[in-house]
Amino acid sequence: MEAIVLGSGPGLPQEDRNLSSVLVRKGVQTVLADCGDGCIRRLMDHGIKADDLDAIFITHYHPDHVGGLFILLQMLYLQGRTKSLPVFLPERPSAFVEIMQLMYTFSQKFKFKLQILDMDQAELYFDWISAYPTDHLLGYSGIIKEHNLVNEMKSWALSFTGESGKLVYTSDLETTDCIADLLSNAHTAIVDAGHPEAEQILKLKYLNIQRIILTHGISKELEARQAELEKDLFEFAQEDVVYSV
Ligand SMILES: [Zn+2]
Repeated sequence: MEAIVLGSGPGLPQEDRNLSSVLVRKGVQTVLADCGDGCIRRLMDHGIKADDLDAIFITHYHPDHVGGLFILLQMLYLQGRTKSLPVFLPERPSAFVEIMQLMYTFSQKFKFKLQILDMDQAELYFDWISAYPTDHLLGYSGIIKEHNLVNEMKSWALSFTGESGKLVYTSDLETTDCIADLLSNAHTAIVDAGHPEAEQILKLKYLNIQRIILTHGISKELEARQAELEKDLFEFAQEDVVYSV
C-alpha cells in the first residue's frame, strides 16, 4: 500500500503547501481522503484519470477538507467518467446533494453513478478501510445549541490496512487521546500537528507507532518544543513523497 500526501497545509492557506488531501493506493484500488481546494490540480500532477479513483472520503466539512470536491465532481463529469463513484461523507449526505443542486451540478446528468454515502458505511464497501469518530468538532456544541442548528459535529479518522500494518490518517483532532486505541501499534500515522496541544503529539511516542508523519501545519506550542520530537520517529509530511505501508 502507498500513501501520497497531496496537501499538508493548515486551514490558513500557505504559499508553499496545499490544502488537506491524501491519496492511498492498495493493489488496483486508489482512494482519496479529503479534498481541499486545489485538489484537482494535485490529482492531475499525479496522472489520475477520470476512472482511476475508486472512492472519496471526506473526514469533515471544514472548507480546507471539502472545498475541492465540487470541482472534482464537475471535472469527472466533463472528463466522461463511467465507473460508479462512492463518496463517503461525514454527516447529512442529503444536505450535500442540495448543495450540489445549488451549484447546478446535477448527478442525473453524469455518465457515472454517484453514490453519496455515510462515512459509517465505509467498511461495507472496502474491507481494508475503516472510519472512527474524533473530537475535532465538539467545540461547536455551544453555537449549535444556541442557534438550534442541525450540525452533528461529526469528524472522522481513517484507518487503511496495508501489507506491513495499518496507516492511520487522523485528519483534524483536538486531542490524540480520542483515537489512542486506533493509533496504537499503527505502522504509519499521518497526524494533525496544528490543533492538538504539544503534549498530545509528544505522547504518541508511547503508542508503538513505527512512523509519525506530522501534517496540517504545526502549532506554535509544538514548534517551540520541536527538539523533543525524536527524529527517528517523527517527521514532517512532504507532499508528493510516496510513503509505503
Ligand atoms: Zn477541521
